[in-house]
Formats: sequence, C-alpha cells, structure tokens
Amino acid sequence: MVRGSVVHAVLEDLFDEPAPGRTLDRAVELLPSEWQKLRGKAPNPLHEAKALFQMNFYALVIWRTRGVVPTLLQLMYLGDETFLRYEPTEDDLVATENKLIALWDAIERAIELRDFPPRRSGLCRWCAHRSLSPEFGGTPPDLPVLQLAAPDTL
Ligand code: SF4
Repeated sequence: MVRGSVVHAVLEDLFDEPAPGRTLDRAVELLPSEWQKLRGKAPNPLHEAKALFQMNFYALVIWRTRGVVPTLLQLMYLGDETFLRYEPTEDDLVATENKLIALWDAIERAIELRDFPPRRSGLCRWCAHRSLSPEFGGTPPDLPVLQLAAPDTL
C-alpha cells in the first residue's frame, strides 16, 4: 500500500472509533509495522495554509453530508508530535466551498479548451509521466474526450 492510502485507511479506521478513542496511541496500534515510515514533521508557516485548506475540505464534507460543522479540526504531525488545531466556522467552510467551485470551473474550462499546460515543480521528481512531459522534452499523447459530471455532492 502506498503512503497516502495507508494514511487514509488509518484515518477511516480512526473515524470508526468513538471520539475519545481517536488518539495518537490508537493510530500507532492500527499500524504497528508501518508507523515509522509515516512520520512527517510540522510544515513551516508558508506551507501551513495548504494543510489548513485540506482540513477545511474534510470539514466541508462533514458539514455537507452530516449537517454539522465540526467543532475542532486537528492534524497530528507524527515526526515531531505537534498538532495543528483549528476551530472552523460556517464562513470558513463557505469560503472553502467557493474555492472548490472556482477550481471545478477552471477544470471544466481547461477541458473545454483542451488546455492542460505542464507546470514544473518539485513534485516532478515523483511524476510517473516525466518522459511524456513537454517540460522534460517529451510529447504527451492526444487528449481523450472527457465528460465530467456535475459536482452535485458538494
Ligand atoms: S513532469 Fe511534467 S507532467 Fe509531471 S508533474 Fe512535472 S510538469 Fe507535470
């Protein structure tokens, strides 16, 4: 299992626990052999905004699917055992939703225009498509015809 799916599997198992049982110790118990590989440190403040956006995304999903704004968002950094905590408001979640809608609109526009320019970044190091990327001298294949469903789950 890759790192992201391991983390999501543990998160889902933790959400099945009663709230008081969603602890760091319980997370370690769920992954006794792989825990050490998952340890990440708290990001610098510049990158904290990305983590907050992701946390707000999960809170938005809870709000829209269960009708409840979560009281507390909490992200554990396993490497240095620090926590990022945040108490979201409805206004925060509406702002997150508006960003997601704008992002979805941009994706639809890009599909319509068939315009997906490559964007070189540090993530290129892990990209499985580097040999096809114009950023690295490659030629991408023709785009397939895509049709997206409306984001009616938001
Ligand atoms: S290698 Fe090309 S396709 Fe892959 S992430 Fe970088 S820019 Fe994007």
